Amino acid sequence: MAVNIILLGPPGAGKGTQARRLVEERGLVQLSTGDMLREARSSGTEMGQRVAEVMDRGQLVTDEIVIGLIREKIEAGQGEGFIFDGFPRTLPQADALDALMAETGSQIDAVIEMRVDDEALVDRVSGRYTCGNCGEVYHDKTRPTKVEGTCDVCGSTDLRRRPDDNEDALKTRLLEYYKKTSPLIGYYYCKGNLRPVDGLAEIEAVAEAMAAAIDGEAASPAGQRTA
Ligand code: ADP
Ligand code: ADP
Ligand code: ZN
Repeated sequence: MAVNIILLGPPGAGKGTQARRLVEERGLVQLSTGDMLREARSSGTEMGQRVAEVMDRGQLVTDEIVIGLIREKIEAGQGEGFIFDGFPRTLPQADALDALMAETGSQIDAVIEMRVDDEALVDRVSGRYTCGNCGEVYHDKTRPTKVEGTCDVCGSTDLRRRPDDNEDALKTRLLEYYKKTSPLIGYYYCKGNLRPVDGLAEIEAVAEAMAAAIDGEAASPAGQRTA
């Protein structure tokens, strides 16, 4: 049975890291609006150019643009299900997602809330680098590459830092999170599929807690709380 999962949490909470594991382990399709927007930027489309400045400042891109990106992917097909990483980030995006799911006869099975202290996010974000070729996520201290300068997964030496992973932009991103995204915690709590997970634990332990949260949900009738 296909499962659709949302990863909810502030910038640096570990959403991308865990999403990639779920792709590996469960064959889910990762839908990261951040990755899609960065791709649009680097491919130089008109939309990409328009959003670049907004992203670098740490503000949210308009709902219209991100909903359009997600719609295309959902309409392209399901597979084993989707893992939404960094979407939805506003209430209108959450409503649009519900409508899209209903149109395709599917539903959101679990919303994993990745809880991380604000103070930890500066360290998370300032140490982050990713592989430009395969997208693997690393960290200077907590998850460095085995060989310096070389991706463990694909061997590429194209390791990159994001322009918005600096303290100034992070402040704006965190403020955007509290103003616009954090209401989604209440929204999904009321819908009955919110699953909080301690995002401060080690990567492996977070993955285990998430697996338990997902499988607990899959075993229960849709939309009902088990806790
Ligand atoms: P993070 O690591 O901070 O969670 P992402 O890679 O998910 O960052 O997003 C990077 C930037 O892309 C955001 O700061 C925002 O400008 C834009 N973005 C990504 N997803 C969305 C979205 N769902 N709605 C609006 N803007 C988005
Ligand atoms: P998000 O997608 O939520 O912005 P990432 O998955 O990119 O977050 O993680 C942010 C940074 O923190 C990355 O450098 C990543 O390697 C590191 N990281 C992710 N999860 C953990 C964890 N549980 N413990 C320590 N570091 C982590
Ligand atoms: Zn790689």
